[in-house]
Amino acid sequence: MKLLQRRLKYKKLGSNNRKQLNAKTARLHQKISDTSQDFHLRAANYLCDQAGAIFVEDIDFRAWAKGMFCKHTLDAGFGQFFNLLSYIAWKRGVYFGKVDQNYTSQICPNCDAHTGKKTLDVRIHSCPECGYTTQRDIAASQVIRNRGVSTVGHTVVENAC
Ligand SMILES: [Zn+2]
Repeated sequence: MKLLQRRLKYKKLGSNNRKQLNAKTARLHQKISDTSQDFHLRAANYLCDQAGAIFVEDIDFRAWAKGMFCKHTLDAGFGQFFNLLSYIAWKRGVYFGKVDQNYTSQICPNCDAHTGKKTLDVRIHSCPECGYTTQRDIAASQVIRNRGVSTVGHTVVENAC
């Protein structure tokens, strides 16, 4: 009898608390999702304001999530951002293309020479062949741009909705 009373009490309390907590958690997740989507939309529109063509690396984020930063990369929602970006670009008449993602940080944007792997703490790209020096991420983005521009008019993995 005592056990039954306790069970009933637990069930009653538990179910109410659980309902409240579930609702609270759902609201929180919804808020996170809304905030990130809002940010992605703003960023996509901002990028489309500035460019006539946008090229991105064709990254498999599921494979990425198994790499160095694990599932934190999924939290950032890059996949959603790319989808929204391609949609916004299509809507606003901005060319959107995906390019091969391999070796973007290992190639010199100025002379196409392979400069070898950089560890993450190396922030400067300095080419031994031609002496071109710039920030590492800028060099990688220039490689992506070069690839994108060279493939326009050819077959590109294009993501027009
Ligand atoms: Zn070079």
